[in-house]
Amino acid sequence: MFDALRNWRRRRVLAASAIPDALWRDALETLPFLAICTEDELARLRDLCVLFLNAKGIVGARGHVVTPRQRVLIAQQACVLILNLDLALYDGFENIVVYPDEFIPGWEWEDEAGVVHRNDEPLAGEAMPRGPVILSWPDVEAASDWHASGMNLVVHEFAHKIDMATGDANGCPPLPPDMPAAEWTATLAAAFDHFAARVHRGEHTAIDPYAAESPGEFFAVLSEVFFSDPSLLVVDYPRVYAQFARFYRQDPAARAALLLDPI
Ligand SMILES: [Zn+2]
Repeated sequence: MFDALRNWRRRRVLAASAIPDALWRDALETLPFLAICTEDELARLRDLCVLFLNAKGIVGARGHVVTPRQRVLIAQQACVLILNLDLALYDGFENIVVYPDEFIPGWEWEDEAGVVHRNDEPLAGEAMPRGPVILSWPDVEAASDWHASGMNLVVHEFAHKIDMATGDANGCPPLPPDMPAAEWTATLAAAFDHFAARVHRGEHTAIDPYAAESPGEFFAVLSEVFFSDPSLLVVDYPRVYAQFARFYRQDPAARAALLLDPI
């Protein structure tokens, strides 16, 4: 009964809120990393984007005006992570807030000695636990060219959201029953220690050194690499790639190889 109701609602939203063809294609062409998706995957991504945009508000802050193209671009990147998972992973928050530039979060926290600290570092993005995802539009735009920027801000922040579905952003997202948590944790921890050691000894890494900040950032940054430059992750951390392929139920490196070398 519940599924029937859910499917009925889903069909109603899809029929009422379709994304116009020209807008969909225009946004898609801005994101070369999605070119490796098949037609079937893109059709499912489009449906998912419609449902996502129906469920979430994308609102401008500090005078930023969110255009229809910006809404679709954010949705395409947020939804590629859950293409073979469930939109319910993004339950528990309402809005994506878009700033005209980097922003200062200004949140405060108290350390063990009772001293209150304030974060005044400008940020390009932030995923608040049980709160909104905040994005700086110029950084979203810069990230559409992976080879120039080496980052994908939207994928990064929504990977944090998926991670937070089980509590803190600690690099342990909600694994399906057929994935042993011990194997995930051991694989990610070994790769994190290895990567952090490379960064700390000053080695230049193709993967953003910010991944060495914490296991939560490691998961978010490597998720960016998994979707935007999958062969880099296969070469650098193949075991992490294999875990991510099982978790996200996608094999972007195989898709990319097929595109380079069509049968
Ligand atoms: Zn982060």
